[in-house]
Amino acid sequence: MENCIFCKIANGGIPSRTIYEDDDFRVIMDLAPATKGHSLLLPKEHYKNIYELSDGIAAKALPLAKKMAALISERLGADGFNIIQNNNEAAGQTVFHFHMHLIPRYNDDGQKLVMIPQEMTDAQMEEIRELIAMPDMEG
Ligand code: 5GP
Ligand code: ZN
Repeated sequence: MENCIFCKIANGGIPSRTIYEDDDFRVIMDLAPATKGHSLLLPKEHYKNIYELSDGIAAKALPLAKKMAALISERLGADGFNIIQNNNEAAGQTVFHFHMHLIPRYNDDGQKLVMIPQEMTDAQMEEIRELIAMPDMEG
């Protein structure tokens, strides 16, 4: 992908603050960190989002995220950890090359990654469950 900034960064075409690299991934520090140590896990191959991500890269991404979460947390003395992954503008994605945010959290970091709970009736919940349940799931 010629005009993709994360393709260039992941493949070394643009220098970045790298904390891990292998044949498939580069993990870099986020340019505008939400907390101390906020990093981004980037596949070297271009996938726009999770809908396009290959099963092979998907299968490798979480074990790497787990390893990086442990490393970052230990080195920086984090008290917790968020992994966030945005897909499409509606979900807050701004760079359209799949990436996972690795965000160490600290008891006093003052950061708020907000989710606002919505009211939902039992009937609405059941209607939605039927729409999104995998085939063969019992009620
Ligand atoms: P998104 O909103 O797409 O999930 O996240 C994009 C993230 O990439 C943001 O947190 C932003 O700070 C980070 N970012 C955007 N451009 C660059 C860049 O050129 N270098 C680095 N290291 N991070 C970037
Ligand atoms: Zn790309």
